[in-house]
Amino acid sequence: MTTQSVWGSPSNPQPQPSIFSLENVGVTYHGTPAIQGVTMDIYQNQITGFIGPSGCGKSSLLRCFNRLNSLIPDTQVMGRITFHGQELKQMNPVSLRRRIGMVFQRPNPFPKSIYHNIAVGLRVNHYNGNIDERVEQSLAAVGLWEEVKNKLHHNALELSGGQQQRLCIARTLALNPEVILMDEPTSSLDPISAGRIDDLLMAMKRHYTIIIVTHNLKQAALISDRVAFFNVETIPNRNHVGRLVEYAPTLDIFVHPSQPATWEYVIPGSRYAG
Ligand code: ADP
Repeated sequence: MTTQSVWGSPSNPQPQPSIFSLENVGVTYHGTPAIQGVTMDIYQNQITGFIGPSGCGKSSLLRCFNRLNSLIPDTQVMGRITFHGQELKQMNPVSLRRRIGMVFQRPNPFPKSIYHNIAVGLRVNHYNGNIDERVEQSLAAVGLWEEVKNKLHHNALELSGGQQQRLCIARTLALNPEVILMDEPTSSLDPISAGRIDDLLMAMKRHYTIIIVTHNLKQAALISDRVAFFNVETIPNRNHVGRLVEYAPTLDIFVHPSQPATWEYVIPGSRYAG
């Protein structure tokens, strides 16, 4: 297991450069706001955890970073998001998604061989290096190479859930992204497989910036450098809407949050210590 402190990484004491800046960002579905007014920065080579109750808009916000919401009919993203200072809306979504990979809640390998799962993205993106080498490197990066090197042409669906999720991470890494978005990537896994992925993410942040939605507070505390807590606010005579309540280094969120709602969420039943 990891030697990392339970309160997130002490390895990034210096502020990292900001790579995303969000100003007053919101998402509406069919004109109804799901999340509103999010202003925050995301820092390079850090793991940023998004926590909060179901329905507060964490996944909706996550999908803003690679413009995935633009594929959902009647969905609007408001506000301003920049990536390395460039307005996201002006960027080509296909090349953007190459730089910003995504891993979903349920492992979703293609029902093809393990090898194909990695190689197909490389081929589609006209990778001009050695594909066999890249497949090996990507599988090794997620600790899967030794487990699968003798069955690369077996169907990926023969792997366990944890192995499938590591394969999906390897598939993302093969394209050499800069940022990886993760939407509850371990929620469908057993604790041992989930722990392996936590260890992997902590090792990966040396090379990548990671944003992870999680309902698992222990996971957020363990792996994140910074945590954003979102909550659902009820607007009189209107629907509920998600808001960013507090965004701070992990230790602050879990030990001395500044907002009573954060306190209630991370230490339920206890009284806000102010
Ligand atoms: P969380 O990730 O915090 O659970 P979501 O972003 O999934 O929250 O959802 C926020 C709100 O937006 C919820 O009320 C949800 O029903 C709504 N929502 C999410 N996706 C869609 C969609 N594709 N169409 C319509 N409403 C959606």
